[in-house]
Amino acid sequence: MAAVEDVRNYASVSHMFDGKPKKMFIGGEWVEAASGKTFETSNPANGDLLGHIAEGDLEDINRAVRAARKAFEGEWSKWTPQDRMALLLRAADLIESHFQELLTIDTLEMGAPISRGPFMKQMIVGAIRFYSSQVFNTAGNTRPNSLPGDFRTFTLRAPVGVVGGIIPWNSPILSQWWLIGPVLATGCTLVLKPAEDASLVVLRTAELLEQAGLPKGVLNVVTGFGPTAGQALAEHLDVDRIGFTGSTQTGQGIIRASATNIKRVQVELGGKSPDIIFADADLDKAVPGAAMAVFANSGQVCFAGTRLFVQKSIQEEFLERLQAFTKTLKVGPGIDPSTQLGPLVNRKQLERVTGYFELGTQEGAQLVVGGKRLGGNLADGNFVEPTVFSNVHNDMRIAREEIFGPVISVIGFEDAEEALKLANDTSFGLGGAVWTRDLSTAMTMSEKIKSSTVWVNCYGIIDPSVGFGGYRMSGYGWKGGPDQIEGFLYQKNVTMNLG
Ligand code: NAD
Repeated sequence: MAAVEDVRNYASVSHMFDGKPKKMFIGGEWVEAASGKTFETSNPANGDLLGHIAEGDLEDINRAVRAARKAFEGEWSKWTPQDRMALLLRAADLIESHFQELLTIDTLEMGAPISRGPFMKQMIVGAIRFYSSQVFNTAGNTRPNSLPGDFRTFTLRAPVGVVGGIIPWNSPILSQWWLIGPVLATGCTLVLKPAEDASLVVLRTAELLEQAGLPKGVLNVVTGFGPTAGQALAEHLDVDRIGFTGSTQTGQGIIRASATNIKRVQVELGGKSPDIIFADADLDKAVPGAAMAVFANSGQVCFAGTRLFVQKSIQEEFLERLQAFTKTLKVGPGIDPSTQLGPLVNRKQLERVTGYFELGTQEGAQLVVGGKRLGGNLADGNFVEPTVFSNVHNDMRIAREEIFGPVISVIGFEDAEEALKLANDTSFGLGGAVWTRDLSTAMTMSEKIKSSTVWVNCYGIIDPSVGFGGYRMSGYGWKGGPDQIEGFLYQKNVTMNLG
């Protein structure tokens, strides 16, 4: 219980860490798992036990899907777009006023630095307000008759129904909204399965949505493990659409499971994004920009720019500056406001990342900085040094596989043609960036990099009113922006013969 005492110091979140097992949210009620089982959640910064959470499985998923179906066909279906808009705007206000509390819960459970707060707040509250604007993006359209005869043809659009959402641990405070937002905007209902390492912020968000006036059953949160609760949701015959964010391997299973009833599917998977520095780039911006494109959230970001291509004419200077910048970064518990890199989320992730430290050297890459697990007063947590390898070849495993840790692979290139060839030589296609002062280089690279998002002289900025998607094995379907709304709606063609 000592650990529970510790987190009580954070007064605003003490109710989440009061020693009582946390219940799931099904049909507007807070309930235990049908099996009565719970699982432990702990703080990755020191290994302390944070509490217990209900361990849902097939029976709980069935119960949640029934509740979501009932809500979809019940009172919720009578809500007007204006009603749903007002709900989303109330939710945005509540999330905004409780943001520090949500951030603290998330940081304690999954480790990311609390210093990410201002950026995250703007992003999340902005996304919810954007979704409120989409309630009228649910209409069909009419066209002038083009058929021989007196016909009228028009389209109607209707919410697809019950959506299943499965999200990872690396940023649940945000990723839950890529599902809750469009669900509320379109009039669908949701069964959400958060990751076992980061469920608490999702449960607290559900409490706030209850306070905002969310009808019973519109959002259901089933906490539990992937192969049991997650799999049951992905296979469920009464789920109409699945939105999944996570690893490519699990995503392949989700796609297979969706075949049971031909669910609509959106999958957002792994990445190995290229970040390309041309010799004419403003290095004062490019060096910290490229470093934090990987080191933010300790590299546990799907679109991290982990393959750093640097034009050979500036490679030596760039590496010196990157090394110097990396050495200034402060690694520590995310709850400390001065921390820039928090711990990795769990032991499995720690072993995975330290395994790649060894692999890089074995493969012949040169370790420029980092490459070790941190001990001393950080020995109880999952802390590693921000790490840079140079002399990397694009065919090495450290340049091809997603590490999901703070590891940069620097690869040299001669000219734009070679940079492009190397950048596109990957099975992924999530993000990518170009640092240059030349408009023509920026434009050509933006057009030719095979990824769903390209940044120019910046990294990792997503406008929620535009959104993002994936090329190749990074997945398909769009998250955010008006294009995402389409995926939560059925389209219907009505043809009338007036003759
Ligand atoms: P994961 O695939 O193991 O887990 C993600 C979610 O899927 C969790 O909720 C988990 O419980 C669930 N899950 C696991 N097995 C399942 C199964 N058999 N059936 C149904 N659900 C199952 O991934 P992770 O290790 O939690 O997250 C890290 C990975 O996620 C990284 O590879 C990263 O690239 C990817 N990711 C991608 C994005 C993106 O937007 N593209 C964002 C974040 C993370």
